[in-house]
Formats: sequence, structure tokens, C-alpha cells
Amino acid sequence: SMQSTTTLHNGVKMPWLGLGVFKVEDGAEVVNSVKTALEVGYRSIDTAAIYGNEEGVGKAIAESTVPREELFITTKVWNSNHGFEATLAAFDVSLEKLGLDYLDLYLIHWPLPSQGKFVETWKALEKLYKDGRVRAIGVSNFKVHHLEEVIANCEIIPMVNQVEYHPRFNQRELHDFCKRHGIQLEAWSPLMQGGLFEEPALVEIAKKYNKSTAQIIIRWDLQTGVVTIPKSVKPHRIGENADVFDFELSQEDMDIINALNQDQRMFADPDDFNRV
Ligand code: NAD
Repeated sequence: SMQSTTTLHNGVKMPWLGLGVFKVEDGAEVVNSVKTALEVGYRSIDTAAIYGNEEGVGKAIAESTVPREELFITTKVWNSNHGFEATLAAFDVSLEKLGLDYLDLYLIHWPLPSQGKFVETWKALEKLYKDGRVRAIGVSNFKVHHLEEVIANCEIIPMVNQVEYHPRFNQRELHDFCKRHGIQLEAWSPLMQGGLFEEPALVEIAKKYNKSTAQIIIRWDLQTGVVTIPKSVKPHRIGENADVFDFELSQEDMDIINALNQDQRMFADPDDFNRV
């Protein structure tokens, strides 16, 4: 079911599927999306300080009848707050906006190599984790060499790495590295922001299973062992994107989707992304 979970390396259970809220406006838009998602059974919500909608996410959570312990709420420290003290302060601001007294997953949004502070930032996440303020900690947009640097300098290996991941960019080498280190890979822009829906191979597979192209891609995420957080603000699509637990792609069809990989990013290479 959509509440099925993967177990992170510290034993915490994380839903395989969640709702992403990037570019969803704070206020009614995000409140309604999160409420719809919770009503149809989602338990995991992925936001970030930079999305500017943590307050709306918090409002939807506060108004929902779903018990807090069933929810899995993720937010991320933005690039302007790298560094030990700045990250601790940013965490407090995010928690306050979300109206929560603990977080489920806190991520470093980007490695920001130009500042060279992601290890120091990671130490702040370790402190938040050890202080019991967050149930799991991880990173986002970390390549193998960023993870190697963290691993060489950390007490706690990241539990999650959230990265661009879709059939055109399947992150094979990074995924293998993460598996070896017990780091759960999580897909951002799993639907390539809508850019894959016309892909003939996917359209054909969708027909065969009587599912939408979006559902085929989301199912492929799950069968490759990757947590996924598709975004939609439309109630019928929020439901559709989660209706992926009643079928299984054959190995043959998985291979066809795997062959769509072109090692092609949609967005910036994390080594070149230094916006603050
Ligand atoms: P996505 O790949 O989830 O695509 C979302 C878009 O696809 C929607 O806006 C809509 O246009 C379309 N869509 C969704 N469901 C559909 C359906 N069933 N049928 C037809 N069209 C559909 O894009 P995303 O929002 O960029 O990524 C998902 C989430 O990942 C974000 O909301 C955010 O939470 C996270 N994210 C994280 C980072 C990061 O740096 N960590 C970067 C980008 C996104």
C-alpha cells in the first residue's frame, strides 16, 4: 500500500512514496495539496526552507486528523545556511514554521562546493539527530565524491540521499555506491517535471498495464528500490500517482525503462550549483 515503508539504516521506517511540494504556493495551494494527499493515504511530505511553503504544510498537518507519529515530514537546510551554527538556527526556523516539535528527516539541500562547508553542516545535522530533534538525517544532490568526504569525516553515515532520478538519468553509479553504504536513494523530479509522458516506450507499457505513464514511472522507481516524491496540486493526480501498489512491472518492461537512460540531467550538476 502507499503506506509501505523502507527501513533506513538507523531502523526508522520511511514511506516509499510521498508528496513533493516544490513550486507549490504557500497558503491555500499547498494546504489543499497536502490535505488531499493525507486524505487519500499519503503519510510523507517533502518540503524545503527554500520552497517558502513550510507554514502551509504545517497548517495542513495541524488541521489533519492523522496522528503525528504516522507522518513522515522532510525539510531541507538551504544553501545560505551552511555552517554549524547557521544550520542549527535554520532547523529551529523550519520546525517553527512547520509547527512541529520534531522532524522526521532533515536534508542538506545541496553540497555547495564553492563554500566547502558541507561537512561542518553535516556535523550540525548529527547534533540535531543526537539531541532527538529529528528521526533521520540525510543529504540531497550529493555525488559519490561528496558522500565520500562526509563518510570520511562523520560519526553518522547519511540515511538518505535525495537526487534527480528518472528514466533519463538513473544514477547507476551513485545508486550502487549508496546501496553499499546503506544510504537510501530518493528520487526528485521523478516524472522529469512532465517531460517523459510522450516517450513512446513508456506510453506503450502504460497501455499494456492499463495505467498512466506517470504511474509506470513511479512504479519503476519503487521496483528499482528508490523512494519517490512526485509533485502534483491536482487532487485526481495526487490520487493517481499513489495508485501504484496493485501491479508489478515485468523484468522485461523494467529493462525497457532502464534502457531509456541517457545519463542526462535536467538540472544543474551539483558541483556547479552554488546559488545561495
Ligand atoms: P515531478 O517530476 O514530480 O513532476 C511534477 C509535474 O508533473 C507536475 O507539476 C505536473 O505538471 C506533472 N504531473 C504530476 N503528476 C502527473 C500525472 N499523474 N499526470 C500528468 N502530469 C503529472 O517534479 P518536481 O516537483 O520537480 O519533483 C518532485 C519533488 O521532488 C518536488 O516537489 C520536491 O519536493 C522534490 N525536489 C527536490 C529537489 C532537490 O534539490 N532536493 C529538486 C527538485 C525537486
